[in-house]
Amino acid sequence: LKYLEDLGVKVHLNVMLKSYDGLEAVFDKLDPIQTRSLLWAAGVKGNGIKGLRQEVYTQGGRILVDDYNRIRGYENVFAIGDLAQMESPEYPKGHPMMAPPAIQQAINLADNIKRIIARKPIRPFRYSNQGAMATIGRNRAVIEIKGLKAHGIFAWVVWIFVHLMAIVGFKNRLAVFLSWFISYFSFDKANRVIIGKNFGADYDED
Ligand SMILES: Cc1cc2nc3c(=O)[nH]c(=O)nc-3n(C[C@H](O)[C@H](O)[C@H](O)COP(=O)(O)OP(=O)(O)OC[C@H]3O[C@@H](n4cnc5c(N)ncnc54)[C@H](O)[C@@H]3O)c2cc1C
Repeated sequence: LKYLEDLGVKVHLNVMLKSYDGLEAVFDKLDPIQTRSLLWAAGVKGNGIKGLRQEVYTQGGRILVDDYNRIRGYENVFAIGDLAQMESPEYPKGHPMMAPPAIQQAINLADNIKRIIARKPIRPFRYSNQGAMATIGRNRAVIEIKGLKAHGIFAWVVWIFVHLMAIVGFKNRLAVFLSWFISYFSFDKANRVIIGKNFGADYDED
């Protein structure tokens, strides 16, 4: 919040957007805002599948699963990742919709499917939380790893290191690092330019 406010962003917490007609955004606890530009970043919704019982769906279209990622009420249908809501005392609304739970559930489920084929007992999923980190740009990041919290440049460098290490292959890692390094000093935003219809020859109205 502080980082955003330092950047000049006005943040309104605990406010719901009720409607937007292309000109005016109407909220529940805030005066309407006249704007022709609205960026919507309120999260993603699960893509449901026809045929599944309606009661398996929960908030945001997530699918209720048991500890083995089996869809509630089914023996042989599974859901993993963002789509799966595995409720537990530690995660009453399911695991966070992030890459690590999705990857770990995939590994556990793949192993369990092999176990089912081999007629061995299957293993429940246990999330190994490696921590959380977020950045909103140069020198601004927050991290929390095993209860330890940090922010600022240190957290930002850790964010860069962890994300570079997650990239597959040394050549790719080096290419991304060099690109980030050049961007840091050049402030180069060339690839984010939005070209209006008067400038782009191939601009399509739709
Ligand atoms: C903008 C953004 C930034 C993010 N940043 C981070 C981050 O920094 N760190 C982090 O850990 N997580 C981040 N996430 C979350 C992360 O991307 C997800 O948690 C992760 O991708 C979930 O993996 P998944 O396999 O469950 O789903 P997805 O990666 O969404 O894969 C689901 C796939 O299923 C396909 N699909 C959908 N419907 C059908 C259908 N009917 N038939 C066939 N295929 C279908 C989709 O096209 C998609 O390819 C971010 C997400 C967003 C949107």
